[in-house]
Amino acid sequence: MDLHGKRVLVVGLARTGIATAKFLKTKGSLVTTTEVQPKEEMKEADKELKGMGISMEWGGHQVETFLKQDMIVVSPGVDLSIAPIQKAIQKGVQVISEIELAYPFIRAPIIGVTGTNGKTTTTLLIGEMLKEDGKKVGVGGNVGEPLILFTNGKERWDVLVVEISSFQLEAIHEFRPSISVLLNITEDHLDRYPSYLDYITAKMRIFRNQNSGDWAILNRDDPIVMQGQGKVKAKKILFSLKEALGEGAFSDGRTISLRLGGEKEEYPLAQAPLKGVHNVENMMAALTAARVFGCSKKAVQEVLNRFEGLEHRLEFVREIEGVRFYNDSKGTNVGSVVKSLQSFSEPVILIAGGKDKNGDLTPLKALVRERVKCLILMGEAKERMAHELEGQTDTVMAKTLEEAVRLAHQKARGGDIVLLSPACSSFDMFKDYKERGRIFKEAVHRI
Ligand code: ADP
Repeated sequence: MDLHGKRVLVVGLARTGIATAKFLKTKGSLVTTTEVQPKEEMKEADKELKGMGISMEWGGHQVETFLKQDMIVVSPGVDLSIAPIQKAIQKGVQVISEIELAYPFIRAPIIGVTGTNGKTTTTLLIGEMLKEDGKKVGVGGNVGEPLILFTNGKERWDVLVVEISSFQLEAIHEFRPSISVLLNITEDHLDRYPSYLDYITAKMRIFRNQNSGDWAILNRDDPIVMQGQGKVKAKKILFSLKEALGEGAFSDGRTISLRLGGEKEEYPLAQAPLKGVHNVENMMAALTAARVFGCSKKAVQEVLNRFEGLEHRLEFVREIEGVRFYNDSKGTNVGSVVKSLQSFSEPVILIAGGKDKNGDLTPLKALVRERVKCLILMGEAKERMAHELEGQTDTVMAKTLEEAVRLAHQKARGGDIVLLSPACSSFDMFKDYKERGRIFKEAVHRI
């Protein structure tokens, strides 16, 4: 890719945008940046890029800025459907994501992980397994470093493990992982996609440039993933919690068995700290990817035995008189709440709600009826959720998360679970899901 002398616009100036602008500068491009936030809110970006001969636009996007470029590079969170980008595409300007820009400059093989839920957990698991095996591993994309930082040529990586969102996949053309993992597809981001089908199509793009020498690891139990498998040209390996497969991974929750090329290997989970049915899926997907890449069985087992899970993902907070409190603030869509509820057999007091993503709540109904003793709703989505889940269980409203925690504590009896798993994003009341999780934990610790 010849970038010298090209007019390139970087959209979005968070960490990835900053790294992208610097990279383009080293390649001799004529770089412009554009950011919706005002300069005062983006001090870090301003400081990092000042004096580099980059033209910077703040506090909104000017259509003219987009139209006069040779190429536009979008940061991970940027919505391709915004008017200036669409106008630029109509005019014939090439629009790519940061991973696409990075791709031709990367020499190491790429393991790409996508799906509605479990991306970060699975990406980190694969990264840990390969590091444990002595490989020099870069972990990047939405977690860790932006992929563009692995292009500097100074360091030699054995492999890059990359977490990829549907937004990033929308703007790839050549990007091709040697191993791709598709964990699941359930409704999400309907506030940003015209339809569920558009979201599914974006996710499936992870396979589009793979060929028969590559590998694709897919969730056998996910009907949407399986419907799309006809498009996969890479060698497929499936994982399942339901069916022991002739080739692929299977788990009964106690052991994971993997059959590859006629060989069968077993990984006991007795010591694995990661809890929850969804994490068994993540572990199956991760170990399959790691073994296909040639990681040793020993390294795989070591990591299964020690990987603790991440903050805000079904994170145990505290036990008070037999009531256990869990923070699943990253449960920002219906699919993730389904899995979190399925992970408990005890009665659950569920705190949910937040900024509405308009997800269909039908998959939650039966689970709420069976497992949720009391539903505490908050945030913008609370009326719609109460309406759609009406009659399934005792439902109360809370104005703040602190009030929700107080109510949950009052309602709970020994042996119950109190679970924050909102099925919504956090931006109506909090800066992000991390702040929401932190405030939840503080409220629980104050009890
Ligand atoms: P992502 O990076 O895709 O958002 P995370 O690993 O950060 O995934 O987990 C996000 C949320 O989804 C958490 O609430 C977690 O409990 C839940 N989750 C994790 N893995 C899965 C899975 N395989 N299926 C469904 N939900 C999951």
